[in-house]
Amino acid sequence: MNLLHRLIAAPAARGIRTFFFRNRVVPAFLLALMLSACVQPEADSPIDVTWADLDGRPLLVQNAAVFDSITGQVLPNQDVLVRGASIVAIGAAGSLAETDGAHVIAGQGATLIPGLIDMHGHVMASTGPSWETATPNPEDNLRAYAFAGVTTVFDPGDSSDEAYSRRQRVADGELLGPRIFTAGRIITDPEGHPRSVVDALAPWWIAWLLKPQVATGVATVEEARDAVDERADAGADAIKVAIDSIPLDAAIMPADVLGAVVDQARQRKLRTVAHIGTTEDAIVTADSGAALWVHGVYKERVPDEMVAKLVAYGIPMVTTSEVFDRYGRALQGPLVPSKLEQQMISPEKLASFFPPPEDFDLGALQGWVELMQQTREVRLDNVGRLHAAGVTILAGSDTQSGVFPGAGLHRELVTLVAAGLSPAEALRAATLSPARFLDESADPDAGVIAVGKRADLVLVNGDPTRDIAAVSNIREVILNGRLLQRRGAN
Ligand SMILES: [Zn+2]
Repeated sequence: MNLLHRLIAAPAARGIRTFFFRNRVVPAFLLALMLSACVQPEADSPIDVTWADLDGRPLLVQNAAVFDSITGQVLPNQDVLVRGASIVAIGAAGSLAETDGAHVIAGQGATLIPGLIDMHGHVMASTGPSWETATPNPEDNLRAYAFAGVTTVFDPGDSSDEAYSRRQRVADGELLGPRIFTAGRIITDPEGHPRSVVDALAPWWIAWLLKPQVATGVATVEEARDAVDERADAGADAIKVAIDSIPLDAAIMPADVLGAVVDQARQRKLRTVAHIGTTEDAIVTADSGAALWVHGVYKERVPDEMVAKLVAYGIPMVTTSEVFDRYGRALQGPLVPSKLEQQMISPEKLASFFPPPEDFDLGALQGWVELMQQTREVRLDNVGRLHAAGVTILAGSDTQSGVFPGAGLHRELVTLVAAGLSPAEALRAATLSPARFLDESADPDAGVIAVGKRADLVLVNGDPTRDIAAVSNIREVILNGRLLQRRGAN
């Protein structure tokens, strides 16, 4: 990235840079790439998150309702004891009251839920308006996820070389943030998404520099296997392929190359997760052996006669409805913040999303953005019908421009309920179901409140199984057994 840094930071390149950012939509993952290149860091977040200083004392949540992510029921009046990184006891309120030296957390009037899992987070995302340049701040992003009660992030696409070391620094407690599962860099066709987005946006020489950062383009079966090996050697948790056309006429990886990616991943004991757009993309990736769709079918209505076929694959689907809606709405009016966004994001940043600069133009992405405007109802309808038919729905935000770390997942939960899931089912889509996928077990180590499980817990005011909005009304967050001290803007 050094050369890129120098090229982009050079005064001579400023005109091109201005053209690049002022005239085109630049998805935030692209901005993420510009990170070592670009000028100012992302504006400071108004939130403050640290570990509470409790000298390693146990934590006793007293007299809370407890959400059972398996049954979807809420058990009233429970005590939950946390020691180290685990839940060690659960009992009727009062039964654990005399535990030695525990720090007591009042649970009256609140519900304890498992820590949230964002199945499509991007730790390296930059979340400002598309036309602004900002260096992403992964450490701020990690704190934001934690502030919002997200205790695990599955990141299907990290453009930086630090993806794996950052995951380790979080695991070691050196960085405060959710547990990370990462696929590292995306694998795609040389002319496929997201490299095609770069081509659509950037002068050729910037594209030439950026594309390898965004995603590895593989043209042959051999290149596909090499790209998988590189990620497996580095320690990736999964392999990510992109099978979708953005812009709408972009190339897609041929079936034999896709097959080689999935097969090589399997040989390296890794699962392949797939970015998809259409029903056909869903089928092609499933037929290749992919284990997860990291978007829903978002571009078109899934034909009724294809629903049973998608169900039969037994592959979970990460919805990410919110990110496509965001791109559809971005130029239509101001960003209307949720309560959580008002707490977490500065008023200046929220106001910066609208209006766009006068000379702003969508360029080659015009058709795609228009499609996003036309397909909101279709997306929700797909999610509702596929869920009803038996596809396991997982919640994901796809953190990027206007989709904020942590807060974005809360929006997705509201959207899942709008799509037809019950609030308890929406919560399960962000707790038990993703934990089962990540742990490859019906009885996972997280996503459920039970003795012996990871102490990733969120205490929320009210009952989120009655009103999903309650999940955003956070009283306390316990991350890996440790209480967080959280301060937002208000
Ligand atoms: Zn993504």
